[in-house]
Amino acid sequence: MGFKEEIERRRTFGIISHPDAGKTTLTEKLLLFGGAIHVAGAVKSNKIKKTATSDFMEIERQRGISVATSVMGFEYNGIKINILDTPGHQDFAEDTFRTLTACDSVIIVIDAAKGVETQTRKLMQVCRMRKTPVIVFINKLDRPANDPFDILDDVEKELQIRVNPLSWPIGSGDTFKGIYNLHRQNLCLYSPSIQNIPEGIEITDTRSDELDHHIGERAAGKLREDLELIQGVYPSLDRQEYLDAHVAPVFFGSALNNFGIRELLDCFIEIAPAPLARETEERPVRPEEEKFTGFVFKIHANMDPNHRDRIAFVKICSGIFKRNTNYLHVRNGKMLKFSTPTAFMASKKSVIDEAYPGDIIGLHDTGTFKIGDTLTEGEKLHFKGIPSFSPELFKYIENADPMKSKQLAKGIDQLMDEGVAQLFVSQFNNRKIIGTVGALQFEVIEYRLLHEYAAACRWEPINLYKACWIEAQDQAELEDFKKHKAQYMAKDKEGRDVFLADSQYMLHMAQENYKKLIFHFTSEF
Ligand code: GDP
Repeated sequence: MGFKEEIERRRTFGIISHPDAGKTTLTEKLLLFGGAIHVAGAVKSNKIKKTATSDFMEIERQRGISVATSVMGFEYNGIKINILDTPGHQDFAEDTFRTLTACDSVIIVIDAAKGVETQTRKLMQVCRMRKTPVIVFINKLDRPANDPFDILDDVEKELQIRVNPLSWPIGSGDTFKGIYNLHRQNLCLYSPSIQNIPEGIEITDTRSDELDHHIGERAAGKLREDLELIQGVYPSLDRQEYLDAHVAPVFFGSALNNFGIRELLDCFIEIAPAPLARETEERPVRPEEEKFTGFVFKIHANMDPNHRDRIAFVKICSGIFKRNTNYLHVRNGKMLKFSTPTAFMASKKSVIDEAYPGDIIGLHDTGTFKIGDTLTEGEKLHFKGIPSFSPELFKYIENADPMKSKQLAKGIDQLMDEGVAQLFVSQFNNRKIIGTVGALQFEVIEYRLLHEYAAACRWEPINLYKACWIEAQDQAELEDFKKHKAQYMAKDKEGRDVFLADSQYMLHMAQENYKKLIFHFTSEF
């Protein structure tokens, strides 16, 4: 197969949902369907459950699972599919944001009885920001569900995207009869099954008696009415509109019962984008370029404290990555080669010789990488679209063991490279401030500093509302601002100026008084 065909046949995507909507179940059914696994129950949930064990122990358990499920690759109908796993817990939303930067498209799972929930809404904001094409899967139709038209309205309103149903449910819960595939014009009758995948029945003309024969007169009548309405309201899908992230195709089904998955997957491989061109600070990079480029979007530390090695996950953006070949680590200017790059097929890992655009590879890392790093054949490129977001929670981090200050500094450094949280250094008192998305991360940091770096830390409160990166349209005004707000100025890990606002009011006043400064809530603008 030629290079171009290899790129064309790749689909790299993430599944996102609010916890419990069915992301893990859907992932597993897709793998089952693709023949990558053979029994249900093989994919472990990466969810953090509230159990008797303490939260960070649960996180450690979860971290163990998430190495295996970080990337799940499989082949289906000649298409190479890579599913990137995303943590469901909101405290790890930043991990999910970064993983989304490596996805070419996204499937959103929504519980048919609950509709769009908070976490889904937040993750959709990131997709919107990056113009990622999304497909929506409405799950759990085997249970009593909301009216499908209401669900579509809810999705459209809450996710701020036009929708286009490509399959349609016939009843729900006890009266769930099946799904009409609008895309293929066939009927799939519902029969609950954990293992089997039902075949569809061809019914191109829904006016025929055959429909009544299969689902009964009443349901057939209702379906005809629904279809008429759908035709009136939703025009047929324009693929370009989906690719431009203006329209989201919608499927209905029951992941648990393997129902509606075929419709979803068949359409997915047909319409979802192959790897796309990506922006760098210097120029756009097209996947079919001959020379290899890629970037690190995730770093996973070893679970064993005696081996502080890590795996850096690299998304290949162009060219062919080859084993044992020298590549430029752009940030530190060093040439590196990798003897054991790994690929991820379902839950198995294997050393590979080559990888293509769209693929994710795992590189053995002894601490040279951080999130966002670029590898190339020599050109100095910096991939865009891997921003830091303003954290929600802030604390001073202090050394609790004066004998171990070096270990602490190193530990903090490496954990920040991994993207566990963000570090800001106050320019006023030089103290280190850690910013996180969720409270759990403070526990994780403390625990990991102790267990992996033998360093003890202590937290002290600081009252902050937001960290803002400053864009100056007028250098003099920036200097003036920094002078007046010296107490609130910090540097991030990249040495960029950050304004730490202690209240919404203070931020508002700053915006009012300094019109030539723009305050950003993400590090990239
Ligand atoms: P996640 O948190 O989004 O990964 O959700 P899971 O896949 O772990 O599913 C949460 C719960 O919903 C589990 O108990 C699943 O068995 C259940 N579930 C998932 N899909 C369906 C479905 O189609 N129908 C029903 N009745 N339950 C489902």
